[in-house]
Amino acid sequence: METTDAVAGLECVDCGTVIEATAEAHRCPECDGPLDPRYDYDAIDLDRETLEGRPADSQWRYAELLPFVRETAVTTREGATPLVDCPDLADELGVDRVLLKDEGRNPTGSVRDRGASLAVTAATRSDADDVALPSTGNGGQAAAAYAGRAGLESHAYLPSRSGFTNKAMVNVHGGDMNVVGGRYGDAVGAYEEALAEHDDWYSLRAFETPYRHEGIKTLFYELVEDLEWTVPDAICYPTGIGTGIVGLAKAAREFEELGLIDETPALYAAQASGCAPIADAVADGRDDLDPVERPDTICGELEIPDPPAGSWVLEALRETDGDAVATDDPDILEAAVRVAQTTGLEPTPSAAAAASGAWELADRGAFDGDETVVIVSTGAGNKEADVLRSHLMGQGI
Ligand SMILES: [Zn+2]
Repeated sequence: METTDAVAGLECVDCGTVIEATAEAHRCPECDGPLDPRYDYDAIDLDRETLEGRPADSQWRYAELLPFVRETAVTTREGATPLVDCPDLADELGVDRVLLKDEGRNPTGSVRDRGASLAVTAATRSDADDVALPSTGNGGQAAAAYAGRAGLESHAYLPSRSGFTNKAMVNVHGGDMNVVGGRYGDAVGAYEEALAEHDDWYSLRAFETPYRHEGIKTLFYELVEDLEWTVPDAICYPTGIGTGIVGLAKAAREFEELGLIDETPALYAAQASGCAPIADAVADGRDDLDPVERPDTICGELEIPDPPAGSWVLEALRETDGDAVATDDPDILEAAVRVAQTTGLEPTPSAAAAASGAWELADRGAFDGDETVVIVSTGAGNKEADVLRSHLMGQGI
């Protein structure tokens, strides 16, 4: 597989084994732990001026810090999303500045395009003709889009509760859409059965491929550049499976290692109370997660009852002096509407968990008055306009 110059292999997050970065590699051959791309940062020659001289045209402007060269990338120019000042939210949170990173403006309307671009690029370097994944919705839509672009067959396993837009667009992109009765765990089961029958299918499941979380790094690079090389004090990220938290923590380490920044932000994982295994573990001071027995939240993207790399996510939160927070569905829907009405921006209900979490953290006194807080909106509200409008109807509007 043709990788960028500094790639030094894939490292197992659980046991430290390092293997060659091949397109076929998924989990650790020694212990089945998740793999993470490693780089020789001394071999990366990247300074602020070099980056500033490049157009902000896609996440591939950071190719030195990605595993694959830009020429081989399967890309629809994902990334390069705006960081929007939200002064009304800053007033409400009692901080100096609040900025919203609007990932809804990616090609398929969610942050999932970043990782899909990398993971499908890897798939094209293997012998696979088919890619497959379980998904809460947006990941399946993104995978279908990028697989279609690359000429691969895609198989998505979505729980029946996934949004209509996600299901429809998997079909529209030419993907094989499998709606599984029940919830996300049932979709994972159906996916695993299908993969057992088709050993030539290439998995795009988060943390089975080393490249989904890797793509989210670029979100951090962009926001630091947009803040003119200053680092926000806090980043609130809506968290289900945890690819965002581990990706952001790694990106911050990398920019610090390269001398591009000299501090790192506190990362806050925002979850919904109806499915909050990460926030529960943080509150209890545990190093691993207890699966949620009966997940139930309107935030379908966040309803991951048993995140497969939970201890890695917890480590990333600790490493950044961050925290986790969980808020109730009505508060999350209210936050989505408040953001829409005061900023003009449109988060999905799941994305608005980050805003709702930021309010809760502010109430707890987590932020100082002179701080800058970034809220990541991971998906476009028009994917779930019906859910958002239903909340208004409940208020008699
Ligand atoms: Zn291992």
